[in-house]
Amino acid sequence: MIDIQRKDLLQEGAFIGGQFVAASSQKQFPVYNPYSSAQIASVADCGATEAKSAIDLAYTAFQTWKSYTGTERGRILRKWYDLQRAHEKDLAKILTMEQGKPFREALGEIRYGASFVEWFAEEARRTYGDVIPGHQRDKRIIVLKQPVGVVAAITPWNFPSAMITRKVAPALAAGCTVVIKPSELTPLSALALGVLATEAGLPPGVLNILPTNNAPEIGNVMTSSKLVKKLSFTGSTAVGKLLLKQAADSVKKVSMELGGNAPFIVFNDADLEKAVAGAVASKYTNAGQTCVCSNRLFVQEGIYEAFIEKFTSAVREQTLGDGMTKGVVIGPMIEEKAVASVEALVSDALEKGARITCGGQRQGVPQSLLYEPTVLADASTDMAVFRKEIFGPVAPVFKFDTEEEVIAMANDTEYGLASYFYGKDHSRIWRVAEALEYGMVGINSPSVSTTVAPFGGVKESGMGREGSKYGIEEYLVIKQLMWAVQ
Ligand code: ADP
Repeated sequence: MIDIQRKDLLQEGAFIGGQFVAASSQKQFPVYNPYSSAQIASVADCGATEAKSAIDLAYTAFQTWKSYTGTERGRILRKWYDLQRAHEKDLAKILTMEQGKPFREALGEIRYGASFVEWFAEEARRTYGDVIPGHQRDKRIIVLKQPVGVVAAITPWNFPSAMITRKVAPALAAGCTVVIKPSELTPLSALALGVLATEAGLPPGVLNILPTNNAPEIGNVMTSSKLVKKLSFTGSTAVGKLLLKQAADSVKKVSMELGGNAPFIVFNDADLEKAVAGAVASKYTNAGQTCVCSNRLFVQEGIYEAFIEKFTSAVREQTLGDGMTKGVVIGPMIEEKAVASVEALVSDALEKGARITCGGQRQGVPQSLLYEPTVLADASTDMAVFRKEIFGPVAPVFKFDTEEEVIAMANDTEYGLASYFYGKDHSRIWRVAEALEYGMVGINSPSVSTTVAPFGGVKESGMGREGSKYGIEEYLVIKQLMWAVQ
């Protein structure tokens, strides 16, 4: 059904112990194309039995995998990277079919996702410890970094491939083994990575992938297992909080990459063209369904009307449609409830006085998941869009007067993931960058995501960092050796 060269990349079984297998219950669940609503696959519906067996196998595999040298692990990861790049078009097609994002964006995600594997293949050799001068004459102190153990990972549907490699690559590089539960909406991209991992020479049990339509059941097994030493989650703040509570009982190491409410601030002295292009890029990528998408645009009074005019005409040029059609830059939203949530946010804003300058409607046949890229001018802080993560192609634009006022508005949220601002004054750039309570700040840049920079949030947006030289630390524990020389 999906037109790909390597037909075997399309798997419907769970990937456990190096094999693709049916669920012991024989249950399956459907995967749909969000553009056409057609069913594209029927995937093994794993439960507690599969989760326990995958964790056991990962624990057994850990005993050997941790003894590989960093160079040996790095070579396998490098091969996995090469295979992902060699089959990038097939992987991108699978991604577009199950997730909806335009093919070019899907290809970008596959390359971005693969870049973590390339990076951590290199970092595998660099998990350096320390030698600390002794505190007493006979003492020598050595710090080792060791893999934490079996890792459980839970990932979302908005980046079905890259959110997996961003966790799995550093975990494997560190010497950990992994059990991963992809989103029920997008399990196919995950399973395709499993095929290529085997081909790259990853030993059985080192990586296990459990598709399921019953996330809480697997989440419970993962968080209650004493064999699992680390939980890495990307998803909503609500589910993250629940998993944190569950993981507390066995005091697991955790990384949480949760929701955001990104401010995008444009000061009077900003380069208007660049700010407009940046706002379009940061708002409408993946139909607005990323945790770093700008959620609230704050534009200073002096350029407010000019910004609205240019931004609106740029947004009107964004073509909405089937991600497999050339020229389409915004695909469907992921599911009906996502569209309904955006519709509710837009009507709340309109009731409270917002002005639509473009979009504002669902497009196409009834039940279509295509929502027009929308601009809401004259937004105010009493609207739900000020507090809630929109997760859709809707840009509320707020007017502000002073720097102090906009910093207060930007920080008035429980979230703290990405933030962005545009302006030229150097003193203000430092002040604003330091004042924003966010884990990432884009300065005249609409993007903060790259393999080589640490990705992550503060406040209720989470803890831990992914990518960069810091990313591997999430999968390592420190051990000190206190040696008395005799
Ligand atoms: P989103 O709003 O992005 O779908 P979710 O937090 O609902 O975010 O989903 C992110 C991931 O968390 C998905 O893989 C989903 O299946 C999983 N998930 C949702 N609820 C639970 C739960 N109770 N326990 C474990 N995983 C869960």
